Amino acid sequence: MKLSHIEHLGIAVKSLAESIPYYESLLGTSCYSIEEVKDQRVKTAFFMVGETKIELLESTDPEGPIGKFLEKKGEGIHHIAFAVDDATAALNESESKGLTLIDKVSRKGAEGMNIGFLHPRSTHGVLIELCSK
Ligand code: ZN
Repeated sequence: MKLSHIEHLGIAVKSLAESIPYYESLLGTSCYSIEEVKDQRVKTAFFMVGETKIELLESTDPEGPIGKFLEKKGEGIHHIAFAVDDATAALNESESKGLTLIDKVSRKGAEGMNIGFLHPRSTHGVLIELCSK
């Protein structure tokens, strides 16, 4: 599996309205996209920093994955996403190496990307997303 670069860092926030101006000031760049991903029960906001994006994640449902994360851990880094050629192939390869998958096959994430997650249980506590175009 070839990881070309860190595609984005996912950061859980309580409120996009409050955190977007903060990140725009911190990063010196404007948020270029806000998108709801219904499947994940989140609203996302994206910033470009070089080749890497920052993805802010606001929960739309306290029982959704980001809702639960915020409840347990509060705001902060939620996941690291690596760019790969083929997310489903990368998931299969990860499984064959003994890693635990959250997604057996890739699904559609924000920005039309094919995405899948590895379980933090098998990655030393880091939730890892693999994504491809
Ligand atoms: Zn992500």
